[in-house]
Amino acid sequence: MQALKLARNFHVSGIVQGVGFRPFVYREANERGLTGWVLNAGDGVEIRVEGDAAALDGFATALRRDAPAAARIDDIESSPAAVEAFPSFEIRPSRRASAPVARVCADLPVCEDCLRELFDPHDARYRYPYINCTNCGPRYSIIQGLPYDRERTTMRAWRMCDRCRSEYDDPLNRRFHAQPVACPACGPNYALEERSGVTRGYDAIVRTAELLRAGAVVGIKGIGGFHLACDARNPVAVHALRERKYRKERPFALMTRTAVEAQKLAEFDEAALAALTSSARPIVLAPARESLANVAPENDALGVMLAYTPLHHLLFNAGSPDVLVMTSANRSSEPIAYQDPEARSSLRGIAEALLIGERQIARRIDDSVVAGMHRTSVIRHARGYAPQAVATLPSTRPILALGADLKNAVALVVGGQAFMSQHIGDLEHLGAFEAFKQTISDLEALYEVPPQELRVVHDAHPQYASSAYACELPGEKLAVQHHRAHIASVLAEREAFDEHVLGFAFDGTGYGEDGSIWGGEVFCGSLSSGFERVAHLRQARLPGGDAAALFPAQAAAGFLAEIETPDLLKAPFDFPQRYRQAEELLRANVRVFPASSMGRLFDTAAALCGFTRAITFEAQAAMWLESLARGSPPVSPYPFPFAGGVLDYRPLLAEIVSDRTRGRDVREIARAFHAGVASAILSVVAAHSLERVVISGGVFQNQLLLGELAAALGERLWTNRIAPANDGGICLGQAALACFC
Ligand code: ZN
Ligand code: ZN
Ligand code: FE
Repeated sequence: MQALKLARNFHVSGIVQGVGFRPFVYREANERGLTGWVLNAGDGVEIRVEGDAAALDGFATALRRDAPAAARIDDIESSPAAVEAFPSFEIRPSRRASAPVARVCADLPVCEDCLRELFDPHDARYRYPYINCTNCGPRYSIIQGLPYDRERTTMRAWRMCDRCRSEYDDPLNRRFHAQPVACPACGPNYALEERSGVTRGYDAIVRTAELLRAGAVVGIKGIGGFHLACDARNPVAVHALRERKYRKERPFALMTRTAVEAQKLAEFDEAALAALTSSARPIVLAPARESLANVAPENDALGVMLAYTPLHHLLFNAGSPDVLVMTSANRSSEPIAYQDPEARSSLRGIAEALLIGERQIARRIDDSVVAGMHRTSVIRHARGYAPQAVATLPSTRPILALGADLKNAVALVVGGQAFMSQHIGDLEHLGAFEAFKQTISDLEALYEVPPQELRVVHDAHPQYASSAYACELPGEKLAVQHHRAHIASVLAEREAFDEHVLGFAFDGTGYGEDGSIWGGEVFCGSLSSGFERVAHLRQARLPGGDAAALFPAQAAAGFLAEIETPDLLKAPFDFPQRYRQAEELLRANVRVFPASSMGRLFDTAAALCGFTRAITFEAQAAMWLESLARGSPPVSPYPFPFAGGVLDYRPLLAEIVSDRTRGRDVREIARAFHAGVASAILSVVAAHSLERVVISGGVFQNQLLLGELAAALGERLWTNRIAPANDGGICLGQAALACFC
């Protein structure tokens, strides 16, 4: 007797398009003798299956358990259906829903299967730098529109050959509907441009490896832009790159072929290793094991990523040095170059040669950066993460959140899904501001949101370029205070809308609701009820305002004016003349701004410990201080009393000055400072009877501080996980707060 036939519907949501999900469903259904269909809908994947109860159960289990590696299933809804007696199982054409909220997949690293073929002399795609399949390859960086089909990618310029086409059409093939599928016969290729001429195909890769071995700097086109590469163990090459790129001290990222190679360079704990090998393939910051001259000056950490494109693997295989510097191709803090003509002109004086691939990049996306020392946290949210939805928010209206001006990123909320853009940069640079506008129109087009329907959220800072831009947009506007947005970003990620928390927002600078510079703020409240400022760092008078951020000694003048000090121009402090000038500004009370900035307090401590020159990249002095502190075992904290809602830094600074005068080891001083900040936070926690503690803001990228707080607070402490704690996460917090205003 035949078993009774049943039918079921499944609706799978999450990242399930462009990741080989339909072929996977097709195989699972066929293996179990089920009939029906699967299709891509605007908001996920829909499945209808018919068969006996046991087969249906097995199918339901496999759906979740065996899904392709690149898929991320958020939810599977299942409901009974009427039996229609389908003769077979088929993959049906995509259906477009009214709102295309099916998430765009982030770019994926080359998979193991493709790697095997890449180095198999008998394979049709042997040594082909654009090899890919449904489990790997570019996505967001080639997509020009939705739904995700070849015609709406930068691959539309190439017609598939018969072999590629037959694989593309075969539901049992790994390349079924792999939109960027290509082979040497029909697809794009790479060429190396040198002054002496052009080399094409695999020879270009061999020649590039040769140049890198010889100490040259080569511009290499990647997934979301160009890299500048050189041999990381060749100090002359690294030095040349720094000189030509006008990048004096900021650390360079490194690339190795394998995790084993990476582990020779730096110490990755379990979580850091997981991040390193994750499909986002971010740059992971970890304590250095090997010292590489000029790569990360005065920094005890190295940033390492693994090869993620077939091209990277080919380069290493062709004899490139084992460790490459792979830094974004741009000058100082301009956005990364991603178009060929732009790269040719802007990299001319920097790179000896350019390795350029023919496939166009649809949008620029930098490498992502993850700090992997105490808790892994995203510092730069870009390739491999963007533009995935990071949270579901309670909003029926679309929201555009413009973020902050520094480390800008934007967020778009459609159908309740919050999509975070890739890192854009500092909007004071014209190129970054252009990229900001481009990214906004790009996301609006991708998700088909009419701009006039958007609620536009921006920072409350009246002088931010992003705030000014908000005024140019149609639709309703909402200003959100910077530090509240920091706290909100943590809660938004966890979708904890009613959680009542004590939130610490510590950063360099943000516009306070009283018009002063904020940056050491403590709040009570929740996303749904709002946040009340309950405590803050004692205000200092900051000479030169935000400009003080560039000169730790200038910021120090503001803070040290509050206590008695010896002449700091003398040893052991040796402050520069700039300190005197700042003192004069303070005395005359011109261009002096009240500030409760924790970032500037870190700068002050760094200046007292010896960092008296100008910084050459953001947060450099604080990173230097942290590095210094890690050189000391734990010591008892400096006093940093909390009373009347104010954290008073004066006793702390007075002790640093006296310890330094007495000749105490600066590593110990730096360590005691960190411990002091941690204990100040804990004393505020003790004064409030709230279980949940939230921390966000650039200061909390400090891994030492984070470690001390995590040790003391354990599970009570909530930090950012996906959105950066720095201003890159502001857009998400703005979007979340807009849902409740
Ligand atoms: Zn693959
Ligand atoms: Zn082909
Ligand atoms: Fe901030």
